Amino acid sequence: MVDKKVHIQTFGCQMNVSDSEKIVAALRQVGYSPTDTIDGADMVILNTCSVRAKAEERIYGILHTMKGELKRNPRLLIGVGGCVAQQEGERLLKKVPHLSFVFGTHNLHLIPQMVLAAEDGKRIAETDFIDNETRLDLFPVLGGTGGVSRFVTIMQGCDNFCSYCIVPYVRGREISRRPAEILEEVRMAADSGVREVTLLGQNVNSYGLKVGDGPNFAALLRQVAAVPGIERIRFMTSHPKDISKPLIDCFADQEKICSHIHLPVQAGSDRVLQIMNRGYTRSDYLRKVESLRAARPDICFTSDIIVGFPGETEADFRDTLSLMEEVGYSDTYTFIFSPRPETKAASLEDKTTRAEKQARLDEVIALQRKLTGNLHRALVGSRLQVLVEGVGRHEGQIYGRTSGNRIVNFTGPVEMIGSFADVLVVKDAPNSMLGEMG
Ligand code: SF4
Repeated sequence: MVDKKVHIQTFGCQMNVSDSEKIVAALRQVGYSPTDTIDGADMVILNTCSVRAKAEERIYGILHTMKGELKRNPRLLIGVGGCVAQQEGERLLKKVPHLSFVFGTHNLHLIPQMVLAAEDGKRIAETDFIDNETRLDLFPVLGGTGGVSRFVTIMQGCDNFCSYCIVPYVRGREISRRPAEILEEVRMAADSGVREVTLLGQNVNSYGLKVGDGPNFAALLRQVAAVPGIERIRFMTSHPKDISKPLIDCFADQEKICSHIHLPVQAGSDRVLQIMNRGYTRSDYLRKVESLRAARPDICFTSDIIVGFPGETEADFRDTLSLMEEVGYSDTYTFIFSPRPETKAASLEDKTTRAEKQARLDEVIALQRKLTGNLHRALVGSRLQVLVEGVGRHEGQIYGRTSGNRIVNFTGPVEMIGSFADVLVVKDAPNSMLGEMG
């Protein structure tokens, strides 16, 4: 088969990063292998995100610039997948006449036939949701690809319908992958040298809850921890309302589970949390933080925060700031509310000006900088184990990730990439730390 090249650009969450691996596997079936650059590529695929309006606008901008690429290479095929594709479907083909094909979040298995049709000059959009049994049968088990760490999808979709979120509409309803397949994928990863796995899903804590007699998330974690060769386990994303006692117990007795949890709070005010349909109060959230900290005292918390949600008052916003201080997040991913089609929050009255929202965002970012700085300063002088992931920014440096998901740069040989190292933290920096080996 002729070796053709595909350049894939991935946007948005880790779920899309994982989907892009599946897209690569599907494209290999029709003779395409991935390339890092668009120069010389026979096909470009944008794996898109529509969680925020800005991310969606960016995709249209990139598609516009593709006209220039087509002048250079008129045979270039352009495909769009992911959440924008799911949301727009056929409309996207009409809006972007130079687009070859569009595939939705449930249609990765159709990519080979769509590509063959596109090579014959046909323009196709496939965005139908498929039934759960078929979806379960279609989860490809990805072989071991080596590397230090890898993502393993354990579930897809979401049934929570938070009032601002487009995910249930573009990813479909929640489905948990079969445990035997997850474990097979983890085993293959371990056999190929992977030391750390991140279990992925829109709401990993509800894994297995809707499937008869399979394991729940805590039981699955224990099974993954028993796979020889796997030294570290991470997972995301966790919904605070579904953090269970058995899961908290895993933090107490399963050393392989890393000392980090991404626990999106979104807002610190009960009034806003209720309108967001989050299913927990501020005190519920803080209680879970406390229990997790009791189970694993060095645990680091990260979070997502939305500022400027419709109707958010100054007092509501102050509640978010005080909650951030109370938890002492190591990092937060903060966004200005962005109305998304079909969601309830898109039709709520919103009187806060753009300038006020921006000022709130700036304040949250400044507070987070302070909290991260405090954490890094407190770690100076401690010895931490890191998993070495790559080459650092400065000559002779490599970097590793702590169990708490912090980055430490230190001088060391590149041969250490993929192995563990003990480092002494000697200096803090805003986004990382500096260490010394030994
Ligand atoms: S839990 Fe809420 S925010 Fe998360 S994916 Fe589901 S609907 Fe969206």
